[in-house]
Amino acid sequence: MQGLMSQYPLTLTHIFNRAERLFAGKGVATVQAGGIERITYGEWAQRTRKLATVLDELGVSPDGRVATFAWNTARHLELYFAAPCSGRVLHTLNIRLFPDDVVYIADHAEDEVVFVDRSLLGIFWPLVDRLSTVKQVIVMDDGVPEDIPDDPRVQDYETLLAAAAPAEFGVLEDENQAAAMCYTSGTTGHPKGVVYSHRSTVLHSMGALCVDAAAVSEKDRVMPVVPMFHANAWGLCQAAVMAGADLVMPGPKMQPAAIAELMEGEKVTLAAGVPTIWMGVLPELKGRDLSSLRDIVCGGSAVPKSLSEAYREQVGLPILQAWGMTETSPVATTGRIKSTLADASEEELADLRAAQGTPIPLVELRIADPATGEELPWDGEARGELQAVGPWIARAYYNDERSDQSFTEDGWLRTGDVATISPDGYVRLVDRTKDLVKSGGEWISSVELENAIMAHPKVAEAAVIGIPDEKWSERPLACVVPEPGEGLTLDELRAFLAERVPKWWIPNDLELIEEVPKTSVGKFSKKTLRERFAERKAT
Ligand code: ADP
Repeated sequence: MQGLMSQYPLTLTHIFNRAERLFAGKGVATVQAGGIERITYGEWAQRTRKLATVLDELGVSPDGRVATFAWNTARHLELYFAAPCSGRVLHTLNIRLFPDDVVYIADHAEDEVVFVDRSLLGIFWPLVDRLSTVKQVIVMDDGVPEDIPDDPRVQDYETLLAAAAPAEFGVLEDENQAAAMCYTSGTTGHPKGVVYSHRSTVLHSMGALCVDAAAVSEKDRVMPVVPMFHANAWGLCQAAVMAGADLVMPGPKMQPAAIAELMEGEKVTLAAGVPTIWMGVLPELKGRDLSSLRDIVCGGSAVPKSLSEAYREQVGLPILQAWGMTETSPVATTGRIKSTLADASEEELADLRAAQGTPIPLVELRIADPATGEELPWDGEARGELQAVGPWIARAYYNDERSDQSFTEDGWLRTGDVATISPDGYVRLVDRTKDLVKSGGEWISSVELENAIMAHPKVAEAAVIGIPDEKWSERPLACVVPEPGEGLTLDELRAFLAERVPKWWIPNDLELIEEVPKTSVGKFSKKTLRERFAERKAT
């Protein structure tokens, strides 16, 4: 027997229409060069409709990729909806990627147009002639006086919007149609494209509204400090619009003092960012009125127990840890304490908050022996590769043969994280199989950094591993075998890398070693190196 319910497609137009109709008076506050700009959802919806017309007038294909190179702002939020609600696909370019990777992903996604914040033109414009499919660049003037190139491809966002009529969004029949894409660093080779559908985004937004997840509600004032170019700001923007919550957008002002001021001044109720952010913000919160704040969500890297406890002591709120990946939309677990654990000691609770939490509804997790694939028990002891499946978990990468290695035969995502799971479902990450270093919430490719180091004439071989760092969570340690008779100083290495990799990739730590340990098949054994430098902390 079949159920008799409507086959109502889950699309972003529903979220958009709901905000426009029910929450026209709520809205978004954005920090811009001239101060805080405010816009209601009513005004935002009109502008978003006009933007859809602009996309038509620019000649963007019906399912064309609309790229953004932008901070967290209300304009970026207009793009978040105008692109998918008009059938197109939003592609948020990560401004912190290596320039070659930005070029690769814009080409791979076949981006047709890029919407760039004026303050980011200095990073973006030097790449523009290398982009093979981008025909137009639309500048969003955030008041930062970067030169606007005099070039026929460049147009001004506000001028285009002012001339456009608001579009009617048609009905999107297919909820599985692509809504957005994000690229994430691969261990080897180029970044990999994750393609979200309307359905996955709507369901993930509902997930964020669950009380045991982020509990986003109409009463909230949500501040995503996590960038909108990184895993969709953890889905908080769409979730806030769905709930009718106000949004507070930090724009380019990501300094700890500015974030702290916004939290107080804008009466933020829920803020989300990586540990590096919350580490920097804590001292700036002293003496501020944070009575509105109910949750500080933190993920992207492990949340140190000491950080969460410092928040509990100073702010009165421990950090709510969440775990996920670009491939998981990204929220998959949150660290809410179950009521059955209410009697645990403060010490036990603090320890539990330092774990990654329990899966939120509709996310299935398991741990598996990496060699045999055999599923391991949830006993809090067995360590295995964490695997995930669910309606907002990727099942493949976009046009990428590496999908084969990243998903199991039965369709589960292999996360590359190693975890234990306790009998009551708390996931605790204990290691990582992917060869990457996560610094301040963004990935450094160990392999690319090694290749850059090995290009130095004094270097015979080099391997890079991550070591713990209080501020950035992790920093790279360069383990270098010098050419016979040669040495290498940290200064020499840093000067050499300055021209070859992004500034924030350059290691502060160097170890000269006699040889890079190898596995039985001759690959670098990072595991052995990690064991050897287990006590090493970044300087
Ligand atoms: P995001 O940074 O939004 O989590 P990415 O796709 O860039 O998304 O990175 C995902 C990876 O980051 C995870 O596979 C894991 O290695 C690491 N990570 C994410 N959240 C946590 C967390 N709470 N604790 C430890 N590591 C985490």
